[in-house]
Amino acid sequence: MIHRKSSSDLERMAAAGAIVAETLGVLAESVRPGMSTLDLDELAERHIRAAGGVPTFKGYRGFPGSICASPNDMIVHGIPSDDIILADGDILSIDVGVTRKGFVGDSAVTVPVGRVPEPTLSLLRACQASLAAAVEACQVGGHVGDIGFAVQSVVEGAGFAVVRDLVGHGVGRSMHEDPQVRNYGAAGTGQELKAGMTLAIEPMITAGSYEIRIAEDEWCIFTVDSSLAAHFEHTVAITDDGPRVLTRSAGTSIVDAQI
Ligand code: MG
Ligand code: MG
Repeated sequence: MIHRKSSSDLERMAAAGAIVAETLGVLAESVRPGMSTLDLDELAERHIRAAGGVPTFKGYRGFPGSICASPNDMIVHGIPSDDIILADGDILSIDVGVTRKGFVGDSAVTVPVGRVPEPTLSLLRACQASLAAAVEACQVGGHVGDIGFAVQSVVEGAGFAVVRDLVGHGVGRSMHEDPQVRNYGAAGTGQELKAGMTLAIEPMITAGSYEIRIAEDEWCIFTVDSSLAAHFEHTVAITDDGPRVLTRSAGTSIVDAQI
């Protein structure tokens, strides 16, 4: 069942989303070779709680972290660890969820660590561009399939692959609501998009195969062929005035500037 939100619900989601965006901005600015992903997790939790939010991921189905931190060929759901030390040339997907006043904001960026080669930067740019195209597809009267079609067109047009087995999702009072939002497919298919729907749109793309492998911890998800992966996500409201990104703030321009 799809839960459509009222305008006051959307304001509350935007308040949660602003904390997500600020936190991602802080983390993107802080990422350096030599840091562990647990260092980033601690920084994120402090920032989220100081802003009046709760880290949504912490304790979700037993997940231990406040963020997901997924380097290189890890696509998503990386458990922050002091054993994972970031190195010059790595890329890192950082995924942040915040609950505030009963609503969730969910957003992710993939950032370069130190100096990253140009082909890798082009993977990040393609993923970010596919998210931008997907947001533009969030129009009243459109369909969920328009979103997947937009992502797939940009990503495959740039020579990269779209992960099939992981999807975006509705978001609101819960982190995961209906509908599922695939990152591939045909325009004009799937549920009709209506005002008040709120979707976490999250292209996950690779420089090789789109097949995935789940680690023994049952959380971390890798590319099966160890190719690099990128992941960007925004929480987006569908409104009569067009798409409204609820997880954007001045802070995210730092992320944009880095790649
Ligand atoms: Mg997320
Ligand atoms: Mg999500």
